[in-house]
Amino acid sequence: MSPPRPRAPRPPRSLLREWPKLAPRLRRARRRILLCDFDGTLAGMRRAPDAVHLAQSTRKLLERIRDAGSVVGVVSGRDLDDVAAHVGIPGLWYVGGHGNELRSPEGRFVSLVSAADRREVARAARWLRPRLAPLPGIRLDVKQASVAIHYRAAARQGKERAREIMREASRRTPGWRLLEGKKVWDLLPERAADKWTAVQRLLGKQPPFGPRFVAYLGDDLTDESVFRGMRGAVTVSVGRPRGSAARYSLRSVTEVRRFLRLWLRAAR
Ligand SMILES: [Mg+2]
Repeated sequence: MSPPRPRAPRPPRSLLREWPKLAPRLRRARRRILLCDFDGTLAGMRRAPDAVHLAQSTRKLLERIRDAGSVVGVVSGRDLDDVAAHVGIPGLWYVGGHGNELRSPEGRFVSLVSAADRREVARAARWLRPRLAPLPGIRLDVKQASVAIHYRAAARQGKERAREIMREASRRTPGWRLLEGKKVWDLLPERAADKWTAVQRLLGKQPPFGPRFVAYLGDDLTDESVFRGMRGAVTVSVGRPRGSAARYSLRSVTEVRRFLRLWLRAAR
């Protein structure tokens, strides 16, 4: 007889369907905090990360939500300047580098990346660059806190070869973490911050008084640290249904936009 399997966590429920129950809580809240991942959540994925762009309608919605008094934050694996440039809205929180850098709406910058981490990232990049360069469709992106390898544009063979090289790299640098994202691997020092570390910082900066309504939306494995950590909040897994610690789900970037409209309506 096989041993009993651990009980699977409850699958996330449709946020749009559950919204009528949640909206009154948002209306009553003194503080409304909306945090979103960028790629695959606010903006659709593209073959090349540079081709990803925020739809004008989504940008307008986020601006109106900010103007209605909600705290809005974008939390990304991209470098902070990169994600801030892609979103292009002043007065938001920006978190970059998988949680290693933060910028407040007033422009105050906090880096959680140490000089030692920066040196290690540079060293890993020097080792990886010549080995990955001959592989078509593989792109190396050296960031503040990690080295990212994008394989979205690579054929299967190139991807397999790149995977071997990545494995070798992580063997050579014990204590590194390999984050598997969507068509991207991120290699970063073990002690580097994650998105949950950064979100805790961000929430810690909010005035503590009054009931608050916090939502976090993300589509990637790197968002799971927030889903697991942020108990009692509206955590939302975006994209095709999969195992997730999030309580709610939205199926697509289009559904995310519908949700932003609902947020705005309830927050005004
Ligand atoms: Mg994402």
